[in-house]
Amino acid sequence: MTRQSQLLLPTLREAPSDAEAASHRLMLRAGLIRQLAAGVYTYLPLGRRVLRKLEQIVREEMDEAGAQETLLPAMQPAELWKQSGRYDVYGPELVRLRDRHDREFALGPTHEEVVTMLVGGEVGSYRQLPMTLYQIQTKFRDEKRPRYGLLRGREFLMKDAYSFDEDWEGLHRSYMGMYDAYNRIFTRAGLRYRAVEADPGSIGGEGGTHEFMALAEIGEDTIAACDCCDYAANLEKAEYERASSEGSAGITPQAGVPAKVHTPDARRIEELAALFQKGAEAFMKTLIYMADGRPVAVVVRGDHEVNEIKVKNALAAAALELADPETTERVTGAPVGFAGPIGLGIPVLADYAAMEMEEGIAGANEKDYHIKGIIPAVHLAGAQAGDFRNAAAGDACPRCERGRLRFHRGIEVGHVFKLGTKYSEALNAKFVNAAGEERPFIMGCYGIGVSRLLSAVLEQHHDGSGIVWPESIAPFAVHVIPVSAKDRVQTDMAEHIAARLAEAGIETLLDDRDERPGVKFKDADLIGIPIRIVVGKRAAEGLVELKRRSEADAETLSLEEALAIAG
Ligand code: ATP
Ligand code: MG
Ligand code: MG
Ligand code: MG
Repeated sequence: MTRQSQLLLPTLREAPSDAEAASHRLMLRAGLIRQLAAGVYTYLPLGRRVLRKLEQIVREEMDEAGAQETLLPAMQPAELWKQSGRYDVYGPELVRLRDRHDREFALGPTHEEVVTMLVGGEVGSYRQLPMTLYQIQTKFRDEKRPRYGLLRGREFLMKDAYSFDEDWEGLHRSYMGMYDAYNRIFTRAGLRYRAVEADPGSIGGEGGTHEFMALAEIGEDTIAACDCCDYAANLEKAEYERASSEGSAGITPQAGVPAKVHTPDARRIEELAALFQKGAEAFMKTLIYMADGRPVAVVVRGDHEVNEIKVKNALAAAALELADPETTERVTGAPVGFAGPIGLGIPVLADYAAMEMEEGIAGANEKDYHIKGIIPAVHLAGAQAGDFRNAAAGDACPRCERGRLRFHRGIEVGHVFKLGTKYSEALNAKFVNAAGEERPFIMGCYGIGVSRLLSAVLEQHHDGSGIVWPESIAPFAVHVIPVSAKDRVQTDMAEHIAARLAEAGIETLLDDRDERPGVKFKDADLIGIPIRIVVGKRAAEGLVELKRRSEADAETLSLEEALAIAG
């Protein structure tokens, strides 16, 4: 049993005013976390307990799927990142440092390089395949805008797994194994979520990458889901806050703030055209839609690499610079800078002459790409005000063609991705196949933001009084509260109940503080333990009250009945 009087559980009546997300406010108020620096948090005992439960669920399902747990170093030689080609392209999100000998290092934001080197060095034969390795470890990403508490941290807990196969069929099996495990994990964690097709970019193919999206209004992603079949896809992020200034000549548009209107001079247009060209070359698909001989929308696509998101955002920022609010709004029905569901792979609306930047660029319309069926329906050129948005929500489903697309906001809690040979080739990681030939491993990578998952669960599981934990991850199962700390009958009975539960292996918190009942009940609601046993006046008759956090009413029970239910 844990005694609340001794527990580091600093609850707060009010959350700091800069905490915008419900989950962030609750975590601060319920004493789960405290901030040390932007995007860097301490887990207090309650927060740590919940995080461990989530880790345990992840661990059990990874083990069940046949993955092997490892622990890879956070500190990684820059050399490795240079070899994979990511040292330069990863950008400022990569935390870089030097050791005392002036050698360059990075703190791992992800571990493809390290794990590929490991397997390349230790696994030589197809007989050892397939193999999936995973770890649960602290990751470092110097996010441009850390926010919403654990939802976007700069130091955060991730489960990352990497599969190694002989061939693409093998990869598909490994991938589906992880996909199924992810479904079990998120279901066990009590999360409402959708698995959605994400942008396959240049690497993927059919089903090449899925994101697992917790459904929550605060989510930064927009997903389109069919109301009839199980089709669901991530719409390209249209997140203006994250629009990077890199390569975009210092343009950093803000959410909802109209772009500065001006007529760019010829030199500027040339600069921007060069930027779009650069984007296209970075195996992105850049498509600018025309109306009245002026661009109204820019579609930028790429794969999941952070750097590409940055390039995308840079392109989006550049297009925004060209935008004229009036024309854009007339043609598309959406204001410039609008970052909502209109995201649809269309991060930015602009009003200049559209031009196709490279041959066969109709990437967005390519067969089997997830925005298929949406963009073509838009008919941008010549579209009337409102068409754009309407075409987006309520469009025919591209999969079943019977259902309609609906939009939801989502938090990316997990991501599975078929990598292929991108890293095994760059790092020369090979095995010998049955025919005696050397082949690069066919890889997949699979991430879950464990700490982000905690926030996502809280976004969904709370009410006006506080947290309502799903049983599977609650910090304690039972909260025992004597109403009066001065009444020996009550305190003795509460002690007895807590001791009996603890003996039965039930995680029990005993509120043995000398506090007013109102304070104890408020705290109990706030921290949200699933079952509360209140020992009050009727203790003398051997009666207690049992209340579930998720229900409004309490039942009066005998001590033994209460123990039977709580145990
Ligand atoms: P996002 O699009 O939100 O920036 P990502 O696509 O960059 O995430 P991945 O590289 O796919 O993230 O990493 C795997 C998982 O790690 C993500 O699905 C997410 O759950 C989690 N994650 C990524 N960045 C963060 C962060 N800054 N804080 C907390 N969790 C994160
Ligand atoms: Mg990211
Ligand atoms: Mg993402
Ligand atoms: Mg991702």
